[in-house]
Amino acid sequence: MSDYELPENRLSTTDESGDRVYIHPHDVKGKWTNLRKKIYWGLILFYLIVPWIVINGQQIIKLDLPKREFYIFGATFYGHDGPFLIFVLFGFLFLISYITSIWGRVWCGYACPQTVFIDTIYRFIERKVEGSGPKRDKLERSPWNSEKIFKRGLKWFLYTVASMHIVHSGIGYFVGTHELLHITMKSPTSNMYLFILMLSLTLIILIDFGWFREQFCIIACPYGRFQSLVMDESSLIVAYDTKRGEPRKRTKGVAVDDIGDCVNCNRCVNVCPTGIDIRDGLQMECIACTMCIDACDEIMLKVNKPEGLIRYTTENELHGKKNKKGPRVYIYLALFILTCMTLLFSLENREHLKAQILRGSNSPYQEIKSESKILNHFKVRVRYMNSNALELQMKIVNSDFELISPDEEFEIVNENKLLTFFVKFDSNLLKEGRVKTNLIFIDMKTGKEVIHKELSLVGPINDNP
Ligand code: SF4
Ligand code: SF4
Repeated sequence: MSDYELPENRLSTTDESGDRVYIHPHDVKGKWTNLRKKIYWGLILFYLIVPWIVINGQQIIKLDLPKREFYIFGATFYGHDGPFLIFVLFGFLFLISYITSIWGRVWCGYACPQTVFIDTIYRFIERKVEGSGPKRDKLERSPWNSEKIFKRGLKWFLYTVASMHIVHSGIGYFVGTHELLHITMKSPTSNMYLFILMLSLTLIILIDFGWFREQFCIIACPYGRFQSLVMDESSLIVAYDTKRGEPRKRTKGVAVDDIGDCVNCNRCVNVCPTGIDIRDGLQMECIACTMCIDACDEIMLKVNKPEGLIRYTTENELHGKKNKKGPRVYIYLALFILTCMTLLFSLENREHLKAQILRGSNSPYQEIKSESKILNHFKVRVRYMNSNALELQMKIVNSDFELISPDEEFEIVNENKLLTFFVKFDSNLLKEGRVKTNLIFIDMKTGKEVIHKELSLVGPINDNP
């Protein structure tokens, strides 16, 4: 058995005693690699830049968990909008099922953060510090000496810097990038909870992207298991064309004239980040990263054979059959469209303008003895979910009650405003310490009343028997 042949019951990343074999994929160039790199950088830049974009004073994506306020591209959601999340999750599930049933593991190869960050940042650092794949393999096997200590130390230092940067950007989505910048200028002890969270996440990212890597895809990723349920013989896969390639070069007992196109160079195995041999057929470890396609095309070009011995194809095509989409594909699409429509309908019909009256946090009332008046303190939380600004006026229609507020007239747009107001009234109006009146909000453009709230005012009981 050659170094490249594995017993069927052994993972490509374990040796005969079950210990981890660390994979150092060789570098590869080609059209699919170029395309992936462009997509990876686009996604990384999106992730790093988006939390810094502020429009109308609002970060365009901010998930403020303590306040339970979520700003997503101009739309604002609150804790009680949580049920919408169910539609989003189901929509994502049906979309990913639909995509996987047609294009296979395209998510793993092109968009999974695990693949994107490892391939673009961590392998770049590794390559710069330790050299190409074969050099890294050699260093792995070499005894610990000053060169190995230096290179490994430098690599892990740079990994740590990269992990910290990734984690800080991620936290920026929750805390706010400008607030985070301010926090990072202070001592860690002033935000101990956030500091510990940052260190823990950095450690997790560092271990996963720096060391665990393909093991996550092979052992832990739920999507890896899930995709085998939604794929069928017509789903797109990265596959080796056995009919064209076999019998491969150096196959015992096969005449030179009878050999197929595979020159048995093992380049496809050497570039594979999960260490598998695609010539053994479709395997769960394959993340459809296309590196073996580019590697094999390179070889085919050198030996004057047509490209595509390893290519994007389907099991049906490999067996000379026609692709046909099963009903499942249409069901996933229909469920996705239905979920999106339900979500849009629910969003469109949610209450756009709402007010919640809260009593002031201090004493429920104050007596102004010189005027025989009572003062009640309130707060009102006004929520308005629309990007067309609204100018509102807060008013009490009954002239027996005086409204005092710095925010009597205000503008609101796609936000949640907390306003303070006081109501002053004659103590004679109290009956058993209570009296009611109405607070209204008027749309200043149309003059129409848009919110009506009953106010329950309190005062001393004994003063007015
Ligand atoms: S077999 Fe090919 S496509 Fe699959 S993970 Fe390995 S290199 Fe990527
Ligand atoms: S890279 Fe192509 S030619 Fe070389 S071993 Fe793999 S399939 Fe065969």
